[in-house]
Amino acid sequence: MQTPSASTPDADVAVIGAGVVGMAAAWALAQRGRQVLLLDRAEAPGLGTSFANGAQLSYAYTDAMASPALWGQLPGMLLGRDAAFRARFTLQPHFLRWGMAFLRNATPADLHRNTLATLALALESRAAMAALLARHPIDFLHKTAGKLHALYTPDALPKARAMIAAKRPYGIRQELLSAEEAVAVEPALAGARGLVAAVHSPDEEVGDPWRFCVALHALLTTQYGLQTRFGFDAHRLLPEGGGWRLLAQTGETVLARHVMVCAGIDSHTLLRRMGLGSPLMAVKGYSFTAPPGPLPPKASITDTSRKLVFCPLGDRIRVAGLADLNHWDPHPDPDRFAQLVAMAQASLPEAIDFDRIEHRWAGLRPVTPQSTPVIRRLPNGLIVNIGHGMLGWTLAMGSGERAARLVEMP
Ligand SMILES: Cc1cc2nc3c(=O)[nH]c(=O)nc-3n(C[C@H](O)[C@H](O)[C@H](O)COP(=O)(O)OP(=O)(O)OC[C@H]3O[C@@H](n4cnc5c(N)ncnc54)[C@H](O)[C@@H]3O)c2cc1C
Repeated sequence: MQTPSASTPDADVAVIGAGVVGMAAAWALAQRGRQVLLLDRAEAPGLGTSFANGAQLSYAYTDAMASPALWGQLPGMLLGRDAAFRARFTLQPHFLRWGMAFLRNATPADLHRNTLATLALALESRAAMAALLARHPIDFLHKTAGKLHALYTPDALPKARAMIAAKRPYGIRQELLSAEEAVAVEPALAGARGLVAAVHSPDEEVGDPWRFCVALHALLTTQYGLQTRFGFDAHRLLPEGGGWRLLAQTGETVLARHVMVCAGIDSHTLLRRMGLGSPLMAVKGYSFTAPPGPLPPKASITDTSRKLVFCPLGDRIRVAGLADLNHWDPHPDPDRFAQLVAMAQASLPEAIDFDRIEHRWAGLRPVTPQSTPVIRRLPNGLIVNIGHGMLGWTLAMGSGERAARLVEMP
């Protein structure tokens, strides 16, 4: 057990969490000459929700989860009839509080505001990612694959047009294509039965978030003096002498001038243990990765009716989907997993070799009622960089920049 004196902190900034959000923050801090100590309860980077997500750097698709369409979906969710969305309804105060705030955000005005707030952060993220890669071309199967949002009902078209128009002033290139035009751009959509149209976003990117965490961690360690303690399960954060004392489950202690919490969904427990409110709800999702089938997509394809995404990732295809609200157990439920496979098979039967699924995974998205992350210095000085929800991979780099600026503030 380590017991350093309060006058000699182990770190200038302790970052809790080595997922995409924590790694991106460590990068932004290192750029500013900060001495960073990265702490994670796991034994390697990127093993939480960042491990096998949908791999989309979805800079143009920042639409908030709470939308007016939610009201139509609620009965199906309540009765368990919506295959993509589930919710565990409880009378637990956190669920009720979060649920009310979520529903309050389901107005057209809030959807517009939340979507554009996230878009601004996504664009900062795109710029920060480009700057990182210009300097250090780390390998994480990154490419500008483009994306097609497949639409299956004519009433989806006016909404798609409105969203394209709202994002155009921000430099987002998107085009609404007929089914035939969409198949010409992405032949894999020939397998999409009932396709009505598709929104094409040619500038969207993909990349493996786990490979990113591992590669960035190695870069920061070898070239930027990053220190890491894996196996450090932060249990309590105590203000001390203008800085912080971090206590691990094991009794191990770390002293730091600043602390930044990037602990994904587990930030909820950490904050509540400090008597602080948490804006986070767990929304569980699933993914699988498999070799390509006879008609694999070259671009990312989002099936908007089944709410799932196909992503070309190196020589594999990843499929991700399902949103189980208020499900906090990260272990995959075999029935839900089988549902995702069946939905993917119905969506694009030839995209994947469904007999050779290699990797099955579930993760917990840390979602706020607004779908925008909370990047803030709390009154006690603690910096939180949490609540990245459905888009943490997309938003990590810009969030790191914003959070690092908070450390610089007097
Ligand atoms: C099925 C699915 C598909 C998704 N697809 C996409 C996508 O295509 N594009 C996109 O942008 N986003 C996607 N997401 C969302 C994205 O994966 C998350 O928003 C993102 O991974 C959150 O990153 P994070 O670093 O905050 O959390 P995590 O990756 O969970 O990292 C948190 C880290 O903190 C550590 N930790 C937690 N508590 C403690 C503690 N007390 N002490 C020490 N360490 C601790 C954990 O071990 C973990 O390593 C998807 C999510 C899911 C589930």
